Amino acid sequence: MSLNELTNRLQNHGLRLTKPRSLILQALISTEKPISAYRLQDEMATNGMKVHIVSVYRTLAVLQELGIIHYIPSQQGYLLCTESCESDRQTEHLVCDSCGIVTEIPMPTCATNDLLEQAESHGFRMSKIRVEVEGTCNNCQKNPH
Ligand SMILES: [Zn+2]
Ligand SMILES: [Zn+2]
Repeated sequence: MSLNELTNRLQNHGLRLTKPRSLILQALISTEKPISAYRLQDEMATNGMKVHIVSVYRTLAVLQELGIIHYIPSQQGYLLCTESCESDRQTEHLVCDSCGIVTEIPMPTCATNDLLEQAESHGFRMSKIRVEVEGTCNNCQKNPH
């Protein structure tokens, strides 16, 4: 998604593209690898905006809630959404062990339904499913380091 599309997405939810949001999104647009909150804080400082880490997390939480970005637990970083997710509830990410690039793909509905059914049979009310698939990306298979 381009910054324009992201701005529209925010506006659809009645939110403005504030400077912190804009800086975070620009940093995420420029890479396919997840970026940690602390690195985003550094990035913002480099662009003349010193903010407390708490407000970085607050901004990230807003973007995450809208499905604009995803948190990738194994990489402890945030990634721009590429599949136009409506929320952070059903995401599948392919994580390359070798180069660190993370690719987002839609989770098959059959998998989602199975997981939902299984959780419910345990009396568990599911709020989100996050799947990380680890391995080697196509590019790294062709060009081993
Ligand atoms: Zn997504
Ligand atoms: Zn790779």
